[in-house]
Amino acid sequence: MSNDLTARRKGVGRGLAFVVTGPSGAGKNSVINRTMAGLPSLEYSISYTTRPPREREVDGVDYHFISREEFAERIERGDFAEHATYLGDSYGTSRSQIDGMVARGVDVILNIEVEGAKLIRRDGLGGHTVVFVFLVPSSLARLEERLRARGSESSEQIAARLDVAKREMDALGIFDYLVINDDLETAVAELRAIVTAERLRLS
Ligand code: 5GP
Repeated sequence: MSNDLTARRKGVGRGLAFVVTGPSGAGKNSVINRTMAGLPSLEYSISYTTRPPREREVDGVDYHFISREEFAERIERGDFAEHATYLGDSYGTSRSQIDGMVARGVDVILNIEVEGAKLIRRDGLGGHTVVFVFLVPSSLARLEERLRARGSESSEQIAARLDVAKREMDALGIFDYLVINDDLETAVAELRAIVTAERLRLS
């Protein structure tokens, strides 16, 4: 083995996209944040949304918070690689942000709901190889517990999110991996393992 075989693998930062989807309250944000810490060349796709910021959310970090008018203009201009409506608000993935990441040769993590994941499954994502990960607690009862513990939504909003979650579970078939988040450490270890394994694939 005289030649270095490292280049035969997909490798770190070769334009892999990890689409992480799962019902609201599944813990996607915590699992993604913890997974990214310590993994090199992995960047977060900061979505655009018309939803108002929650306490502690920072514009340009958690989301780009924009008006409905601006969202509509961005759709018109073709700015979004995918976009979807979730409980009355719009959410979209910036095409130029993703293209920039491909150009710089970094991998990207997207935190999106199921309809957006289906669109990316259908249309692809600007040259990234896409890996689809579904993240859920082991039961709807646990999901409800998590939503109540988070305390950021009213009882009505929680009921609406649980309704959507029941429908979202039906889409499991389009995903490549299932991560169960009953325990944060375990879920983080699993998502890291997925990122690492995909980087070790022969290209
Ligand atoms: P939340 O309001 O709880 O932050 O997000 C609601 C849902 O929208 C979550 O499931 C989240 O993953 C999803 N979401 C966030 N950004 C995007 C996006 O750019 N596109 C799509 N399709 N869904 C998104």
